Amino acid sequence: MDGVWRTIKGRRVFIKNGETPTEAFKRQYINEEKISKNQKEQIEKSENEIYSLNIEYLYAIDENGNVSKFSSNLPNAVLKKDIDLSKVKNAICVHNHPSGSCFSPGDIFTFVDYDMKETRVICKQNDKIVEYSFKKDKNFDYTFTYPEFKKNFDKNKKNLIKEVNSGNMTVDYANKMLSESSEKWFNENSSKYNFIYKKEIKGWKRKDT
Ligand SMILES: [Zn+2]
Repeated sequence: MDGVWRTIKGRRVFIKNGETPTEAFKRQYINEEKISKNQKEQIEKSENEIYSLNIEYLYAIDENGNVSKFSSNLPNAVLKKDIDLSKVKNAICVHNHPSGSCFSPGDIFTFVDYDMKETRVICKQNDKIVEYSFKKDKNFDYTFTYPEFKKNFDKNKKNLIKEVNSGNMTVDYANKMLSESSEKWFNENSSKYNFIYKKEIKGWKRKDT
């Protein structure tokens, strides 16, 4: 998908070719405007609380701003058995990625499986704090979104593992490349499969620097 990034009302907006800036802004931010003030505040607070942790946490924030916190004490997953699914259903869910990467295929699978309203990842990337978000648009096509993303992810991962094993690349660099290939996939396929994806760099000062 070709297009350009612009800053509109202080937000980074990806304008696809043939789309007006207003259309692009609406596509990426209109649903967010429906979030209650309390829910929005609790999301920010939750993200700030977990972004720098080395263990993965999943916080579910309901429309009234009630926060439910879950963890399996693992660096790369929160297991289904440790999550109260009734709290996650229809909630905006935020989890941290200690690895600093974009969504995994499992994140997209659980988004649908758990019936979330929106899923977000908050993480550190160098000196920045980055938030990824994913939610349905009208006519969201799950049938293809998950398998197609997973296929792309697995193919890239396999190639990168080869590079690491042959000594051409460090593991850290390969992880960064994998994350970037996922970002590219989400940007290129949002209108094809009707989902809303965005990446936002937070303006907060990092706690650990
Ligand atoms: Zn995840």
